[in-house]
Amino acid sequence: MAVLVFTENWDGKFKKATFELASFASEISKLYNSECYAVTFGSTNDGELASLGKFGVKKAFEIKNKKYQNFNAQSYSAAIVELIEKLSVKTVIFPNNYSGRSIAPRVSVKLKAGFAPGVTSMPVSIDPFIIRRKVYSGKAFADIELKTDIKLISLNQNAFKLVENAVEIQVEEFMPTINDTDFKLETKEVMKNKGKLPITDAEILVSGGRGMKGPEKWGILEELAEVLHAGTSCSRPVSDLGWRPSEEHVGQTGKVVSPNLYIAVGISGAIQHLAGVNSSKNIVAINTDPEAPIFEAADYGIVGDAFEVVPKLTQAIKSFKEQK
Ligand SMILES: Cc1cc2nc3c(=O)[nH]c(=O)nc-3n(C[C@H](O)[C@H](O)[C@H](O)COP(=O)(O)OP(=O)(O)OC[C@H]3O[C@@H](n4cnc5c(N)ncnc54)[C@H](O)[C@@H]3O)c2cc1C
Repeated sequence: MAVLVFTENWDGKFKKATFELASFASEISKLYNSECYAVTFGSTNDGELASLGKFGVKKAFEIKNKKYQNFNAQSYSAAIVELIEKLSVKTVIFPNNYSGRSIAPRVSVKLKAGFAPGVTSMPVSIDPFIIRRKVYSGKAFADIELKTDIKLISLNQNAFKLVENAVEIQVEEFMPTINDTDFKLETKEVMKNKGKLPITDAEILVSGGRGMKGPEKWGILEELAEVLHAGTSCSRPVSDLGWRPSEEHVGQTGKVVSPNLYIAVGISGAIQHLAGVNSSKNIVAINTDPEAPIFEAADYGIVGDAFEVVPKLTQAIKSFKEQK
């Protein structure tokens, strides 16, 4: 009943979200009195794989072959299927992000395995296997039963805390069978957004909507983001209008983010927007309209004009930091 966790590394390094996944996978393996394994694609820095042992991973498999250097859902899912079969794994944990959501369904089809996407907590029970996931764009929860022998789960970011459970870890290289049909799609060049943290990785996001009136007004949001060491994001109309780059657009048709703090400024809080942000730990809304739906989703709200409130907030944070 071993559990396998798919871990992503960025230039050889893991992020906090990876350790959340490892913690979750390891806690599930404990329910089965079984072991927790991890797989990663591409070479990792020295000691990086071993760091998974701190969160209960007993064996880590590294797929170093150059063919797997760039993300390819087809070849990655084939390799994972091979590993699942080799290790007789019964539960596989993926991140509920772009990678997880493109690999897991392929694995599900290949192995006829049930898939629970967007899971938010540990299983409600393991026999029968019932687990809670978000549904209706995050508006509700559903407890679903996975009846298949092999079970696939994608876990929402920030849904599970880090659980330290140090074990001795064994690191191995895994060489999947190379099948040319899995490499029909080839990445020629990867252009990285230099110096800027992807919004999906930001711990804090300052996000602007149409209430910001125009692109020339973004300075106050950037200043607030700077003092908070935060990233910046936006609603869809803002990116459609070309006020901000499309990679900052969050929501149903944009990126799904789950920072610890999401500050929504001049954003009404339409359901399509909330679908991308409601896994955030804390939401702060700044809006002139006290009836704006964003206040229902927010943990803290300020009814006021962004152009007055945001500079004051930035100043207050600066003063607070200076006092410390
Ligand atoms: C199929 C579909 C998919 C969609 N996908 C997405 C998506 O992924 N992401 C997304 O964001 N939207 C998406 N939308 C659009 C969504 O329905 C909303 O239209 C959009 O989110 C509204 O953006 P907004 O809140 O920036 O603008 P508005 O709805 O225009 O809201 C602006 C807000 O700013 C406030 N405001 C105005 N002036 C100030 C001020 N001076 N200070 C403070 N507050 C002020 C107003 O009170 C208002 O609440 C989608 C729509 C459809 C139909």
